[in-house]
Amino acid sequence: MNDASCPLCADAGGALVFQAEKFRVIRAQEAAFPAFYRVVWTAHVAELSDLDLEDRALCMAAVCAVEQALREQLQPTKVNLAALGNVVPHLHWHVVARFDWDSHFPAPLWGSPQRPVDGTAVAALAARLDAVDDAIARALSVSCFL
Ligand SMILES: [Zn+2]
Repeated sequence: MNDASCPLCADAGGALVFQAEKFRVIRAQEAAFPAFYRVVWTAHVAELSDLDLEDRALCMAAVCAVEQALREQLQPTKVNLAALGNVVPHLHWHVVARFDWDSHFPAPLWGSPQRPVDGTAVAALAARLDAVDDAIARALSVSCFL
């Protein structure tokens, strides 16, 4: 069940943090927003409602596990969740730790910048992400996700 023209079928889509049978978690490569993760469903489906009830619950539980790891590890001002898929219609959730100092806060990260990128703060955040990756992998390495 995949689509040869789809980048999320062809490639992980970022640095692989965790791989389960039905989904993976990747860390996106977004320079101004280093704590930017995605939960990518393995099968090529466009919408959350394409999944059966059990898989919808699994997908959202994975999103929550990533959110919780971000909260515990980074104490962000807010966590942003988004499933757009307008450009790549393959089900994936963006899970992004947002901080009141980030370049776009409180606007959406796809909105207009509110201030210049704070390179020092971004670098300090990026340095903490190996621990976040480990926390995400630990949280998901339980039988209900595998
Ligand atoms: Zn796909």
